[in-house]
Amino acid sequence: MQQTDTTSATGAPVRPAAPPTGLSPSRAGDFLTCPLLYRLRVIDRLPEPPSAAATRGTLVHAVLERLFDSPAAERTPERALGLLRPQWERLLGERPELGSLFPEGPEDPDGAALTRWLSDAEKLVGQWFRLEDPTRLHPVERELYVETALESGLLLRGYIDRVDVAPTGEVRLVDYKTGRAPSRDFEGKAMFQMKFYALVVWRWKGVIPKRLQLVYLGGGGDVVSYDPDQADLLAVERKLQALWERIGHAVATGDFPATRNRLCDWCDHRASCPEFGGTPPPYPLPLSRTPDEDDR
Ligand code: SF4
Repeated sequence: MQQTDTTSATGAPVRPAAPPTGLSPSRAGDFLTCPLLYRLRVIDRLPEPPSAAATRGTLVHAVLERLFDSPAAERTPERALGLLRPQWERLLGERPELGSLFPEGPEDPDGAALTRWLSDAEKLVGQWFRLEDPTRLHPVERELYVETALESGLLLRGYIDRVDVAPTGEVRLVDYKTGRAPSRDFEGKAMFQMKFYALVVWRWKGVIPKRLQLVYLGGGGDVVSYDPDQADLLAVERKLQALWERIGHAVATGDFPATRNRLCDWCDHRASCPEFGGTPPPYPLPLSRTPDEDDR
């Protein structure tokens, strides 16, 4: 089938190229990891096929979110596991392209791949019950979209998996990760995302969250917490501002260097990446500066 300018070869819609309008933790992470990856995702908006691992993460997040619809005493492992199939069917209804992950056919007549995948999701949900007790939690928000503009005009946005507020009014931001916990050396990098959210909440609501918590469901499971203070969040604000300036320079010059990293093996854009013998598509935005001009 011929690809059009509104649909990709996989049938997923393709959005026209556009300059970035703000930062989320994921996209900030993309630029820090590999500027070319950021460009292809955020500006060129090249489609990416669904991945089984990312979709399993989405499914587990949906189950943990929906479990809190039930009264506290009914938030049992059985109730959570019972949500897996219906939530998978809901996701499939909303994003039919996910069906390509588990094609029915002669090579898998019994749907064993889907069964295995759901079983892995079950293990992650089961792990959560060993780390937290949902009968004792009373989230005030789940999957909360947050957005704020800094004084400079930089727009920050993202989704917080869960917001808990203690009877004393202290706020805890919680994020679920379906991977394993990083080593101690990389904990700070992982917590950057939570500090980003804490900064948004502080600038938005005027309250510094008391605690930031990452709940890792992969591997042996782990909970990593950090209590931020104002100095932490001001440091994150400065870092994001500096990052936004680097992105602005790259947007104006079209200079987004490919940077090899440990995630390249999973990158969907190797065919467009010079590090792997590919060529990026023509830069789709007007250039206002050249790198040389700006570096003088
Ligand atoms: S393959 Fe690696 S270097 Fe190339 S765009 Fe992807 S992340 Fe960047």
